[in-house]
This record gives sequence, C-alpha cells and structure tokens, in this order.
Amino acid sequence: MQFTVAIDGPAAAGKGTVARAVAEAFGFAHLDTGLLYRAVGARAMMRGRGVIVPEIAVEIAKGLTEKDLAREGLRTARVAQAASKVAALPEVRAALLDFQKAFARREGGAVLDGRDIGTVICPDAEVKLYVTASDEVRAQRRYEELKAKNPETTLERVKIDLHQRDVRDAARDVAPMRAPEDALLLDTSELSIDAAVAEAVALVKKRFDKA
Ligand code: C5P
Repeated sequence: MQFTVAIDGPAAAGKGTVARAVAEAFGFAHLDTGLLYRAVGARAMMRGRGVIVPEIAVEIAKGLTEKDLAREGLRTARVAQAASKVAALPEVRAALLDFQKAFARREGGAVLDGRDIGTVICPDAEVKLYVTASDEVRAQRRYEELKAKNPETTLERVKIDLHQRDVRDAARDVAPMRAPEDALLLDTSELSIDAAVAEAVALVKKRFDKA
C-alpha cells in the first residue's frame, strides 16, 4: 500500500509535531525533510569555516547519508539559517530529490514535512496539508524551544531569524515555499497541540478511508 501525506508550512507552525503524530496514528514512516537541508547547511558551514561555498554544499548534498541526519546540533538557529541558504541552491535541491521521492512512495505509507512537498516532491500525494500560524505565535513557540537549549536566546532575535528564513524560502526561484492549491489549510495559531493533531488526523483519516 502506498499512501503519501505531504505537509508543508513555514518554520515553527507545528508541522513537525503534526507530521510525527499523523505518522504514528497510521503507522506510516516519517521524514522531516528540513533535516536534509540542515545537515547539508551544517557541514557546508564547517567545511567553509563559517561561509557557504555553493560547490561544497552541492558536493555534500550528493554524498549525504542517514548518519548525517542523526548528528547533534542540527536544531540551532545558526544551522537553520545555513539550511535556508543551501536550500536556495538548485543543485542542492536536485541532489536531494530522488531520496525524498522514493521515501514518499515506500510501501506502508509515508508522511513528509517541509516546504515543497506538496508542490514539487509529491504533487500527487493522497493528502496535502499546509500548516500555518501567525508570526507572533510561531516566534513565541520557537523562542521557548531554543531558550531551553540556549538561555541567551531573545524573542527579538528569533523573530528576525524566522522572518529572514520565511522571506528567503518564499522568494527563491526554485521550489519556493507556498501552499499547494489543493492543500487543506490548518492554522494552529489558536489550537493546542492536541487539537491541531486531532484535526490533522481526522483530515487524513477521511482520505485514507476512501483510498
Ligand atoms: O523545517 P526546517 O525549519 O527544519 O527547515 C530548515 C530550512 O530548510 C528551511 O528554512 C528551508 O529553507 C529548508 N527546507 C526546504 N525545503 C524543505 C524543507 C526545508 O527548502 N522541503
């Protein structure tokens, strides 16, 4: 059985939480595609001593392994910015395409979350969700997550980081972040985690029962 759930949306809207919960509820495999770009960005920054050299980023993307995704330190704000920079390079995206497409069609069902899943990676996904939340709510959520790891984090800094990434991710030429036309919208600004998850699971269940 092949069944793909494509979940897109901006940073800290809750798509990771929703994706994991949907995968668990239906017994599907889950891929956080942001991790691919974070892993490439982190290694590219290291090899370029703080600077992203496009050729190096492409080489890293071509040789990326599962082990790279399990490395520590991929969740920092610095790595998020690096991820968003390498994600704007068409050759980096091309190098990561086949792996994501194969994951989406694996037997037993798959949930992928990212920015271009419903538009580029899986345009034929059985379910497409676009998870959003207001800028204020997203910044507050990401601030609380990052502050637990780094007490020097400020809300103002988080707001700027998210805004820079949103703009870069939405404005790039290749696979820009946008809601697929046929996506179901889920605004989590006013929803608890449980309520957002329940709504997403119900939406997927409707399609799954029909499939
Ligand atoms: O989702 P996350 O915040 O971990 O993603 C980090 C960055 O990776 C995003 O800001 C975006 O630039 C990039 N990304 C992407 N396409 C995806 C997933 C992530 O361009 N499918």
